[in-house]
Order: sequence, then C-alpha cells, then structure tokens
Amino acid sequence: MKANQNYKNIAQSYLFSTIAKKVNEFSQKNPDKKIIKLGIGDVTLPLCRAVVDALKSASDEMGVKETFHGYGPEQGYNFLKEEIQKYYQDNKVNLDIDEIFISDGAKSDIGNILDLFDKDNKVLVPDPVYPVYVDTNTMAGREIEFIDANAQNNFLPMPDNNIKADIIYLCSPNNPTGAVYNKEQLKQWVDFANKNNAIILFDAAYECFITDSNLPRSIFEIEGAKTCAIEFCSFSKMAGFTGTRCGWTVVPKTLEFDDMNLNKMWLRRQTTKFNGVPYIVQKGAQAVFSEEGKKQIKENLNYYKENAKMISEVLTKHNIWHIGGKHSPYIWLKCPNDMNSWDFFDYLLENIQIVGTPGAGFGKNGEKYFRLTSFGSKENTKEAVERLDKFLN
Ligand code: PLP
Repeated sequence: MKANQNYKNIAQSYLFSTIAKKVNEFSQKNPDKKIIKLGIGDVTLPLCRAVVDALKSASDEMGVKETFHGYGPEQGYNFLKEEIQKYYQDNKVNLDIDEIFISDGAKSDIGNILDLFDKDNKVLVPDPVYPVYVDTNTMAGREIEFIDANAQNNFLPMPDNNIKADIIYLCSPNNPTGAVYNKEQLKQWVDFANKNNAIILFDAAYECFITDSNLPRSIFEIEGAKTCAIEFCSFSKMAGFTGTRCGWTVVPKTLEFDDMNLNKMWLRRQTTKFNGVPYIVQKGAQAVFSEEGKKQIKENLNYYKENAKMISEVLTKHNIWHIGGKHSPYIWLKCPNDMNSWDFFDYLLENIQIVGTPGAGFGKNGEKYFRLTSFGSKENTKEAVERLDKFLN
C-alpha cells in the first residue's frame, strides 16, 4: 500500500495553534488581565427558539413508530429544498428543486465537489484565502495558482486574459477580508469562465450578512452563471448551525463539460458516498425559514452587525484603513505604522489584551493586515472598542 503522497505537500496550519499558545502564555504570566477574543470565526449566540422547537418536535417524531424516519433522500428532503428554492426566488433566482442538494455544511461539499473534476485541471485561488480551497486541492494532487487580492484591487481580484484556469474559487462576502463583489464584477468573472470553459466554485457562506439589495447574494443573480458556477451555502453563520451542521449546494442542470452533466454526476456522487443530513437537523433548518425563525435569526445577525459597526467606527475614528464589517462579520484592517501582522498581534495582546487573527495566516497578501470578527459578545466587543479607542489615541 502506498499512501497518498500529496498529503506531504499540505502546509501545516500553525495559525490558530500559535494564537492559542501565545494567549495561553500571556494569561499564565498575567492571570489578572482579562483577554478579549475578537479572533473567533465561530458564532456565539445560541440557536433561535423556532429552530430549537423544531429540533425537539422532530426528535419526538423519531421516537414514534408512525413518524419515525430512517434513511432519507441523500440529496435532502423536499420540505427543506422547497424553502431554499423560495429563499432564492426572493432574490429573483429560479432554481429547480433538483438543483439544490442539502449538505452537512459548506466545508464538506467544498471538499467533496472535487470528485467531479479531472486531476490535471488548473486551479485558481485568491490570496489571502479560506485555507480549505488550497488544502483540498493539494490533497488531490492539483497545483494551485494564486491571484492577488490586495489594497490596489480592494481585495477583490478581477479576471484578465493572462489567467489560465479551469477551476476558479470565489468567496463573497469574503473570509478573511469581508470584501464583497458587486454584480458588475461578478459578471466579469462569469463571462470569463464561460469564455474559457472554466467553472466557478462560489462560496456564499456569508451571504446572509449582505444588507445592500444591489449586492449579489448568489452568483446565480448574474446572467450566464448557470452554465459555469456551483454555489455553496450554509446555515452555520446564518442561523448558528456551526455545531448542528447543515448547508446546501446548488449545481445547475445546465452545467455541461465534455458531454458530462455535473448535476447528474453530483447526484451520482452523493447517492454513492453520502446518506444525507439527519431528518431532525433538516427540520431545524426548515424552521429558519418560518416567520418566527426569520425574525429571530435576523435579530441574531443584527447583534453581530452592531458589533461589526462598533469596531469599524473606532478604526475609522483613528484613520485605520479597513474593509469589511458592513456586509460581513469580518473586519480586515491594515496594521498601523506598517507593522507586520504577527507583531501587531503581540502588540495588541501585550498592551490591551485583545486577540485578533494575523492576516499573514491567510496567505502572503495578508501580511501587514489583521482580521477582527464581530462574533464576540456585545459587552466584550464594547469593552474591546473602548480599549482600542484609548490605545490608538
Ligand atoms: N466557507 C467559508 C468562507 C467559511 O469561512 C466557513 C467557515 O468558517 C465555511 C465555508 C464552512 O462552513 P460550514 O460550517 O457550513 O461547513
């Protein structure tokens, strides 16, 4: 047996372990100092009432012979897919029910989708980036080209004729930068992909943070996307499902490459390798779209948005260049005085006990940048903002 040698090429991720180590060392030396974590990428508010009620009543159903559910459809129950279909219709996107596949979260499908592609495809990934795109392709033995996201392009790289790519990753609103593509920009990517027989893998895990109705929440709002894009989405940040696990993937039926239909291939892949998301979890996800559910998740999203606003305001007050925060839970800032991102990390920890994420951990273009998130509690975020305000003076 020969092991998959590609695993030797995956970069070790020291980012979050190094952060944890530094924070630990500091708190051991300074047990009386309160550390505030603004680096968290996980939600902190609990599931909303409507979801909890649905989870409970679905659990009860599972304990009764007449309402018990065994194996469900691998691609998800229609009761949930129909809600997602309506959710897209609200943004004037029409999807067939069998273009929607329920998943146990965006991360799994972002990795799994690579089963559909040839090993020799050229992959294009923006830098800085959510590391999963890079690592999953490296595991499969694909080489990756990076496209620079930087201050010159407002962290929104655009296509040009020098790019040679078969698989293109786009994430909007972006993790880590919080940058959001507008419709004109996405249209350029869609046209580029259609012209070059490429596919766009569009990560919309943070679409729920978009408040400006002119900004696209789905790539399928763009004409031509149904012949060149697959979209991944998630209940994780939208409704606090990071631990409950549910998401969806849209694979249009019009995606044809080499006489092969990607929707049919994905269905075949899922029915072969996946046995579906638990009935109970899908009932919980369905409740997100009920009247109460919608209201309650909106309150939670607004809570995070308020946090983001506070952080953004203090940075603006002190003339610190930053993007994100408006249509995203992430705020991406330029480290003051041209500091390196790890130096700025140490500096904030030592002086005001605020923990963020050094941009360098997301790629070379993240150097000298820093990510703060709005997923903390209101009280902690407020205190952190006051500390920053005093300190930056
Ligand atoms: N995509 C991006 C850009 C993310 O930041 C995350 C999680 O942080 C995910 C996908 C994973 O989402 P899920 O919890 O649905 O697997």
